Amino acid sequence: MALGDRHQKKDVEAALKRAEAAGLKVTHKRNGHTWGLVICCPCNKSHRVNCTPRNAGDEANKIDNFTKHHGGHA
Ligand SMILES: [Zn+2]
Repeated sequence: MALGDRHQKKDVEAALKRAEAAGLKVTHKRNGHTWGLVICCPCNKSHRVNCTPRNAGDEANKIDNFTKHHGGHA
């Protein structure tokens, strides 16, 4: 990710880094409450990332779950 594309919550940012390291595509497309998407291209599946999650740890867990299911597909 380019500088300036970081998520404001460090737990979420760390989960996004793990997703990227697993080969998933992270796109920053801020739109309302949406920060962006984590995408598994081969499966055509995506996970929407909230930009202001009530619970950053919970949001990070959801991203980690998606990474666990799809990491290594790309
Ligand atoms: Zn996948």
